[in-house]
Amino acid sequence: MADTLVYIGLGANLAQPVQQLERAILALKNIKDTKLVQVSSFYGSKPMGPQDQPDYVNAVAAVRTRLAAVDLLTELQQIELEQGRQRKDERWGPRTLDLDILLFGNDLIQTERLIVPHYGMKQREFVLYPLAELNSNLVLPDGTRLTELLTTVPLNGLTRL
Ligand code: ATP
Ligand code: MG
Ligand code: MG
Repeated sequence: MADTLVYIGLGANLAQPVQQLERAILALKNIKDTKLVQVSSFYGSKPMGPQDQPDYVNAVAAVRTRLAAVDLLTELQQIELEQGRQRKDERWGPRTLDLDILLFGNDLIQTERLIVPHYGMKQREFVLYPLAELNSNLVLPDGTRLTELLTTVPLNGLTRL
C-alpha cells in the first residue's frame, strides 16, 4: 500500500507548551508505519473560545503514513493522553496537547470520529500560516489554494516564536 502525506496540527497552552510540542514531535516519529517529514516553526497564538486561558503554541507537522486515517487518529489520541490531555466538556478549553488531522492526502472523510479536511482549518490562522511554511503551493481537496485563504485570514496576533 502506498503511503499518504498527512498534515497534523499541534497545539498546547498548559504545562510548558513549547516542551509539550517538542515531546509530541518525538512521539510522532515513533508512530508505527509512519515517517515524520517536516515540522513548521512554533507560533504563539490567541486562544479561540474562552479568553480566560493562556495563549497557545501551535505548529504543523507533515508525516507520511501507511496507516488508515482512523488508525492514525487513534495513535494521535494516545499521544494526547500520554501527555496529560484531559477531556473536558468545555469546548476549546485549555489543554496540554491537541493533535488534529488537517489533511489526509486528498481524502474526504466524514465519520463519527473523523472529519477530514479538518472542519476549522480554513478559518484558523494558527493552522494556515504554519502550513504555508511547509508548502505554500498547497491546494486543498476542494481546489482552494492555501495562498487564497491566507489573503482572507488575518494573523490575529500570530507570532513566530
Ligand atoms: P477542534 O476540533 O475545534 O479543533 P479540539 O481539537 O479541541 O477542537 P478535541 O477535543 O481534540 O477537539 O476532539 C474532539 C473529537 O474530534 C475527537 O474525539 C475526534 O474523534 C474528533 N475529530 C473529528 N475530526 C477530527 C480530526 N480531523 N482530527 C482530530 N480529531 C477529529
Ligand atoms: Mg483542535
Ligand atoms: Mg483535537
